[in-house]
Amino acid sequence: MNTPVQPKPSAQPEFTLQPIEVVSVLGAIGLVLAHLVLFARVPEFWHWSTPLVIVLGLLGADFFATILHWAGDTWGTEATPWLGKRFLHPFRYHHARPLEMLKSHFFTTNGDTALSTLPFLLVPFVISLDTAGGRFTALFFASVGGWGMWTSQFHQWAHVKSPPRVVVWLQRHRVILSREHHLKHHKAPFATNYGITTGWCDGFLNAIRFFTALEWLVTKLTGCRPRSEFE
Ligand SMILES: [Zn+2]
Ligand SMILES: [Zn+2]
Repeated sequence: MNTPVQPKPSAQPEFTLQPIEVVSVLGAIGLVLAHLVLFARVPEFWHWSTPLVIVLGLLGADFFATILHWAGDTWGTEATPWLGKRFLHPFRYHHARPLEMLKSHFFTTNGDTALSTLPFLLVPFVISLDTAGGRFTALFFASVGGWGMWTSQFHQWAHVKSPPRVVVWLQRHRVILSREHHLKHHKAPFATNYGITTGWCDGFLNAIRFFTALEWLVTKLTGCRPRSEFE
């Protein structure tokens, strides 16, 4: 396995506000509110297990964000068709200049992430709430989407030296990604702590060398080398 090194600096990303970013964030917020209204009308949701499923959704959101972050950091180059400029470039640029993301507008920060959570937020509309399994699935997907849409915001706050006090409280109690936890990702070997929602999955995934095994498997199947452009 090659030794990961700091990515090379690349051109500045676009922080120009796009209408799709505003639509994505407002659309995702609208869907979360719609779910709250929908679930509140179902008596079975007023149950002690509901908060547990909501927390499970936060864990799920962190897991999906961890996988996406790892993929964005590890595979392909900025020249990769379709994905390179739009998806991979922001990951590579963030490693080269981590504090540049603090210049990003609220909707630019959260637009892409909100867009990526829309499939999760749409699932509950096609699931029957008549059964316990259906209610669990609907609440879990709504929770993954509802938490996951703020992943980039939590990540950005982890780079802010003096965030708002309520954010500091949430970080200190590990409800959301803490600065101390995330800054380890920005230090050599740059291949741990991929979690950017809460970082809850990192300890377990690091301990079982999850991504080392996954990278070995992907290389075995495709011949692609992880972080090949940074060798
Ligand atoms: Zn990264
Ligand atoms: Zn970061």
